Amino acid sequence: MISNAHEALADRESGVAPIFLEWFNIELASRCNLRCKWCSLDFDKPSVNMDEALLGKALDELLSSGWTIGEIALHNGGEALMHPRLPAILDVIAARRAGRESFPFISLLTNGVLMNERKAGQILASGAVDMVRFSVGRVSDRDRRCRERKSVNALATKNRCTPNAP
Ligand code: SF4
Repeated sequence: MISNAHEALADRESGVAPIFLEWFNIELASRCNLRCKWCSLDFDKPSVNMDEALLGKALDELLSSGWTIGEIALHNGGEALMHPRLPAILDVIAARRAGRESFPFISLLTNGVLMNERKAGQILASGAVDMVRFSVGRVSDRDRRCRERKSVNALATKNRCTPNAP
């Protein structure tokens, strides 16, 4: 606490403002099982999964940066639950959280299509995630047709799928 106060004073004297990063997004899987009209994900880019070592390196750099980080969201574009090694990814986060007095709030956003008892259990057991957010809405006939074409059978959102989604 004292060193933080000294650092803040030094920053003020040097004209460097302390950095508060309200929200940091991490994309776990660069693909999705839906095609929302408003999605920012580039579906033409290579479909990759976040690597555990890379995630650990990114977190270590963030946590040692001296920045104050409000929230790390395990979502950018893409569906986080499509990561094939989700438990290992969550372990990377939980290992950084262990023993720390403070840690950024960790949220995971999902469209819910792949959520089941096993995945929910993995997330809960990891101790890595503070909040799971679901993107859910009303299902229209058109969405249902699109959903069937995409072979997803759980949840879909009004206007989520474009009529010509592949
Ligand atoms: S569920 Fe999310 S990632 Fe998937 S298409 Fe919709 S906005 Fe994009």
